[in-house]
Amino acid sequence: MQIDLHTHSTESDGALSPTQLVHDAHAAGVSVIALTDHDTVAGLDEGAAALPDGLTLIPGIELSATWRNCGVHIVGLNIDPDNPALRSGIARQHHTRLKRADTIASRLEKSGFTNVLSGAQQEAGREVVCRPHFARYLVRSGQIKDERTAFKKHLGRGTRGDVREGWPDMATVVEWIHAAGGAAVLAHPAKYKLTNLRLEELCRAFVEASGDAIEVISGFQHIPLTDKLARLANRHGLLASTGSDFHKPGQAWAQLGKVPPLPSDSRPVWEHW
Ligand code: MN
Ligand code: MN
Ligand code: MN
Repeated sequence: MQIDLHTHSTESDGALSPTQLVHDAHAAGVSVIALTDHDTVAGLDEGAAALPDGLTLIPGIELSATWRNCGVHIVGLNIDPDNPALRSGIARQHHTRLKRADTIASRLEKSGFTNVLSGAQQEAGREVVCRPHFARYLVRSGQIKDERTAFKKHLGRGTRGDVREGWPDMATVVEWIHAAGGAAVLAHPAKYKLTNLRLEELCRAFVEASGDAIEVISGFQHIPLTDKLARLANRHGLLASTGSDFHKPGQAWAQLGKVPPLPSDSRPVWEHW
């Protein structure tokens, strides 16, 4: 049975609509899929309405949080998307993104660029504006020669447009997920590029924040990493989740349902539902 508990649609930064996503997942042999768009549950109804026979949709979300100075992602699985505490959390995330976009735009205008926020908004379409949209707009409008320069001089680390995101701490985000009846999963622990020591600390903090599971599998990955993350989960008494983190077709390392099996000594998060 192919289980994929981490995917994105056009409701955040994915390329497929929720309808296309569930169809493609079914065609790829997936039998359980979670739609986990960034800080939104907007795609869940469409996905459920388009669900092919033989595919189960788990309502999910991927929420941004902060641990120390590090941005981390927490996936909520099997949530009630209408829960009021979760809804107000989502509204807060949205506000945080908007406020940041606003701050970046006004700083760039102080640097002499024009029409920055509305230009970047055009690039973003339905997404909330973030730094790549500013970079694309500055290039498209001929104010900067390429995106690399945009990041290097105006948006990247240490530049004027490098604005902290101000995400909530992990305990707050876990609380929203639990209020909505879901399981809180620390997403892709290997992608934060932490030392082993810091990764241990992150897991300890996640347990203290009442987190339930970590992604032992995130997309295509080699067996040594899987084993390392499985041991990490077991050491901290955390359940194990698995997902492709699919965004768009053509990324070989993150295709729908293309995830190796969980190690036999992992305790899968879905057995806890
Ligand atoms: Mn994404
Ligand atoms: Mn993520
Ligand atoms: Mn993701």
